[in-house]
Amino acid sequence: MSLTVGVVTLFPELFDAFKDTSFVGRARRSGTLVLELEQLRDHGLGKHRSVDDTPYGGGSGMVLRVDCVVAAIEALEQRIGGRARRVLLTPQGTPFRQAASRRLATRERLVLVCGRYEGFDDRVRSFVDEELSVGDFVLTGGEVPAMAVIEACVRFLPGVLGNATSVDEESFSPSGDGMLEYPHFTRPAEFRGFGVPEVLKSGDHAKVRDWRSAQSRARTQERRPDLVKDS
Ligand code: SAM
Repeated sequence: MSLTVGVVTLFPELFDAFKDTSFVGRARRSGTLVLELEQLRDHGLGKHRSVDDTPYGGGSGMVLRVDCVVAAIEALEQRIGGRARRVLLTPQGTPFRQAASRRLATRERLVLVCGRYEGFDDRVRSFVDEELSVGDFVLTGGEVPAMAVIEACVRFLPGVLGNATSVDEESFSPSGDGMLEYPHFTRPAEFRGFGVPEVLKSGDHAKVRDWRSAQSRARTQERRPDLVKDS
């Protein structure tokens, strides 16, 4: 199973280090992930290759043109071998969650469309399959959100994490009832008066499991009560 991700962006250079580093770099080198960047400017108009224009109705800022964005998406899809699941990155989208990364990682092809300026001409929405937001804040562009989506998806590709089970033992995983993960500790056993829970040093695996499960529930209840399911 491999995933091809295409990104429409005005700043492909932002992906330079990202695409070669850590799990993303490793996934690309092993062929599990193919990452293609499409320069939106290449689909711009006129001498200056303009991709934006002033908003109808007036107001400040510039808006990305629908014709340029759609041309970039279609050129990218040609390059990556066919129609992709098209995802628009926008603060107005559905909040991006672990379940979405798990779902998107099963697709053959994804196209992530990064906005800039005031965002997109609203008609762009008619040419994508879904819209995702990485949180209730406004960034300058969709590139950081696109990297977040790619990294979250790559973790679900086979062989990427090394240990096939670890992806199921993290926060938000179905095996943990979608709750936050339990706390971790490593050496030193004591640091400036802060110790490690005795149970974790006991060697009693059943007790450790129970402790972790209780911690996971308590931590979720305290920090994210919205994630706790009634049992
Ligand atoms: N005017 C838009 C609004 O108020 O909804 C915000 C535009 S923002 C300055 C420019 C681009 O950054 C957006 O088109 C989008 O691609 C990206 N962006 C900003 N915040 C984002 C977020 N929270 N999630 C996903 N994309 C975001």
